[in-house]
Amino acid sequence: MNIIFIAPPAAGKGTQSEMLCNKYNMKHISTGDLIRETINNDSPLSEQLKDIMNQGKLVSDEFILELIKNNLKDGDYIFDGFPRNVKQAKMFDELLKTLNKKVDYVIYLKVPKDLATKRILGRLSCPNCGHVYNDQIDELMPKQVGICDTCNVELTRRNDDNIETFNKRFDTYIKETEPLLDYYQDKLYEVDSSKDKQEIFEEIEGIINDYN
Ligand code: AMP
Repeated sequence: MNIIFIAPPAAGKGTQSEMLCNKYNMKHISTGDLIRETINNDSPLSEQLKDIMNQGKLVSDEFILELIKNNLKDGDYIFDGFPRNVKQAKMFDELLKTLNKKVDYVIYLKVPKDLATKRILGRLSCPNCGHVYNDQIDELMPKQVGICDTCNVELTRRNDDNIETFNKRFDTYIKETEPLLDYYQDKLYEVDSSKDKQEIFEEIEGIINDYN
């Protein structure tokens, strides 16, 4: 089973991906995480990638497809943040065909912009386990301010989680990513992502539970 999440920034795709992976033993590919990894590894492309991210724009489709090809192995996958436009979706379809795989579910996490803004500005994550917290939303706060509940290390804030970049990322999402809702209309399921994470998770489980 392969699942794609389509969602504006801070709709909770990372959190839901983590919950699904834990329960259903699926693998998780976040192109955003892979790009951040490339940047942190001081690749010759680091500066260019950092600039693109900070401007809230999309990295080149060819680069993203290479990341996917290099990380896709056997098994069931959740694609978080990919595809981000129709060109990537078409390239992905071609790739999946050669691997005898397909996209089974496309989950659209819908969230109003004002709530997404609040989530972005409070978002913190653990550099060790990747768990996402939020210091503005009660149910997502760490037990100890700024510290991961599990790893006991200091939580970090993403460089692109500021209001200017968020606004640009949101505009990019509307222009480039929302057309995917049409592209995937035959396997698309809409979930109200303004609810709490457990309710959202149960709704997603309801969608995928009739998979066979
Ligand atoms: P995310 O972690 O999904 O919020 O992505 C952070 C940033 O990485 C985005 O704002 C883009 O600059 C870049 N990015 C992530 N995934 C993609 C993708 N599939 N295509 C192009 N750029 C991407």
